[in-house]
Amino acid sequence: MKLKKLLTVTLLGVLVASCGGARDISGSKEKRAELPTIGDLAGPLANVEAKKLFGTKSSGTSQSPATYGSYAKGCLAGAEQLPETGPTWQAMRLSRNRNWGHPELVDMVKNLSRFAAQQPGWNGLYVGDISQPRGGPMLTGHASHQVGLDADIWMLPPTSLSLSRKQRENISSISTRRANGAYVNSSWTRSHHEIIKAAAKDPRVERIFVFPGAKVQMCDDERGDRSYLRKIRPWYGHHYHFHVRLACPKGEQGCVNQAAPPAGDGCDDARQWQANIISPPKPKPGPKPKPSKPRHQLVLADLPAQCKAVLDAN
Ligand SMILES: [Zn+2]
Repeated sequence: MKLKKLLTVTLLGVLVASCGGARDISGSKEKRAELPTIGDLAGPLANVEAKKLFGTKSSGTSQSPATYGSYAKGCLAGAEQLPETGPTWQAMRLSRNRNWGHPELVDMVKNLSRFAAQQPGWNGLYVGDISQPRGGPMLTGHASHQVGLDADIWMLPPTSLSLSRKQRENISSISTRRANGAYVNSSWTRSHHEIIKAAAKDPRVERIFVFPGAKVQMCDDERGDRSYLRKIRPWYGHHYHFHVRLACPKGEQGCVNQAAPPAGDGCDDARQWQANIISPPKPKPGPKPKPSKPRHQLVLADLPAQCKAVLDAN
């Protein structure tokens, strides 16, 4: 019994951690400009996995804040650390040291937490992974979250903002889905709707990832302005947390944006996805699609040229 409980807790931890892990939300298939990479300038480290270098840096750099590269291939100079506890938030899983982000994102998260604290049953936000102190690929979990512009926000309404470090390692978020993500469950509330809506309305936010059933529910429940729904993108997972992604901050030349979401509120697409979960389409006749290749492990040489200085800075 004990073992079963342990397994459940461990599995939940993995689920919470695995945003964008197995299924890539990097938008990497979309066309965009490629930056010059570190390449040979990396010297003997050229072929070292970048996650081993960035995953072991414990502090940010004193450079001015700048994002280099794209959400799933880049790094972050001059990161700001979200304080572990604030008046309306707590950062979770502190042992991971992923409460670092671009100052614009840290500001956005603080703002959103103030809004959340006004919702019934919410004292603010529990904030999951943002980025590592210098961004970059991580030893575990996410493909994205590399440039300090992605943040995971827990679906669990915070009742206490005085959780200890240990409690923040052990507590789990709650799932808000049923039927494999086709629908929300009874843990989903209007407050979830309002908080995700407020996040989407922040002009700095470019996308929010949440499971298809939540998007459909928001489409059904929204009676006012629907334009923000465009930014809410249905995706796999994302029922223990939602994922906020900022666009490149203004004037940052080294930051590579993702293509904008398709025009419109996206509700029909989300309903189609919902329908496909409920009754999966029959596979097309013909040869089976090839299994997708395991993801390429980024080595230092693959990262944008500026990331060398970010890695080497004091
Ligand atoms: Zn995420």
